[in-house]
Amino acid sequence: MADRPLTLMAVHAHPDDEATGTGGVLARYAAEGIRTVLVTCTDGACGDGPGGVKPGEEGHDPAAVAALRRTELEASCRVLGVDHLELLEYGDSGMMGWAANDAPGSFWGTPVAEGAARLAELLHRYRPDVVVTYDENGFYGHPDHIQAHRITMAALELVPDVTSKVYWTTAPHSAMKRFFAAMQEFGTDWDEQAGESAGPDAGPDGGAPELPPIGLPDEEVTTWVDTHAFGGQKYDALAAHASQGENIFFLRMGRERFTELMGTETFVRVRDTTGAALPEQDLFAGLR
Ligand SMILES: [Zn+2]
Repeated sequence: MADRPLTLMAVHAHPDDEATGTGGVLARYAAEGIRTVLVTCTDGACGDGPGGVKPGEEGHDPAAVAALRRTELEASCRVLGVDHLELLEYGDSGMMGWAANDAPGSFWGTPVAEGAARLAELLHRYRPDVVVTYDENGFYGHPDHIQAHRITMAALELVPDVTSKVYWTTAPHSAMKRFFAAMQEFGTDWDEQAGESAGPDAGPDGGAPELPPIGLPDEEVTTWVDTHAFGGQKYDALAAHASQGENIFFLRMGRERFTELMGTETFVRVRDTTGAALPEQDLFAGLR
């Protein structure tokens, strides 16, 4: 047995990503007595301000937005039972192509080695058995998500002997179809949900929009974790991020539909020293 508690570390880009992508596993593993650590890389200052004011609009005060989102993040962590919240406090880079990409202190403009060195310190401190982050496209192309992926993978190289299992969040194509159907039903679209850069464009003949190139064919998903029992906590964690308009779609669904749609969290396993058979239903399979 290890001389420390089994530990899950999730590395996310912005306040609220912990809830959408990994709220279920954070809540479930906390309930199972596993120590949970959330690393949030940016301050989220390019998010919506109070009253839904968008970045670049009059009255959008990035410092006030960052402060509000920090409060929301702390509330979300309480809901999910996160034991340790670590903030890297890089500047939110905004969507791809925004001026904020190149602003001083932006996460996207930070050398990967610098961010990785800071994250490596946290790997040394917490010695997580399992680390979760995004794939190389940051799941949907957001620069801060891509950068979170890059610093995480680089930090794991700097601290090679600690973490037994590494995962990237993903969505099986079957779930993406249900997700887009629910979006239509609840009157939102992908642009509104994800920002304009990743949206499905109308087909060349003006036909049905194509789905954005995200997620994986079902057979490539390695790890399916049932978190339905924690759907209420995941919903409440998202509700804690009420200032962010993109979350309203989820909340509009109500708890039950939300849990039905978002109650299985899926991952692709990219590193493993345990030999646990695939597909698996537990991030900690082979570790306990
Ligand atoms: Zn994000």
